[in-house]
Amino acid sequence: MEKILEYKVKCPICGSKINVSEYLYEAPYVGKLIISSGTCFNCKYKWSDVRLAESRGPRRIIYRVEDVKDLNALVIRSSTATVKIPEIEVEIIPGLAAQGYITTIEGIVMDIYEKTKFLCSEKEAPKEKCSEKLELLKKAMNGEIKYTVVIEDPMGVSAIVSHKTVEEELKT
Ligand SMILES: [Zn+2]
Repeated sequence: MEKILEYKVKCPICGSKINVSEYLYEAPYVGKLIISSGTCFNCKYKWSDVRLAESRGPRRIIYRVEDVKDLNALVIRSSTATVKIPEIEVEIIPGLAAQGYITTIEGIVMDIYEKTKFLCSEKEAPKEKCSEKLELLKKAMNGEIKYTVVIEDPMGVSAIVSHKTVEEELKT
C-alpha cells in the first residue's frame, strides 16, 4: 500500500484532532481503493473509511440474495452510504461517526442486525415489530430467506463485487 496523503479531521466523539493517513490500494476485482485511518489522540476513537478511488457519480447499488453463497460477495461500504433491506424495512444511515469498511454481504446484514437490536433496546421501541424484524434478519444472515441489499451512495464510491450487482443512477 502506498501512502498518498495525511490530514487532520475533527474527532466526532470528543472534538479533538485526528491525524488521518490515506493509502492507495489496488484490490483484485475492485480496482483502486483509498483506505484512510487514524486514531484520536484524546479519546482513542478509531477513524476509518474506504472508498473507490474514482467516483462513478451518485449510485444505487442493488444486490439480490437468493442463496447462502450470495452472502460471500465483497462489499466496499463507504462512510457516505445508506444501506437498506426493503423487504425487512431496515436501514442504516450514515451518522456523524460513520465509518467505511470492507466487508461481505453477511457482514452488512450482521451490522444491520446489531444496530436494529440496539434501537430495539430503547424504551419507546415497538417490541412486536422489533422481534419480527430481528427474527427476519437472523434468517437473512443464514441465507434462509430471499431479499435485496440496496446501497445508496451519493458520492458513488461504494461497491458490491459480484456479477449479480445491478447499479443505477441515484436521483436525489
Ligand atoms: Zn476523540
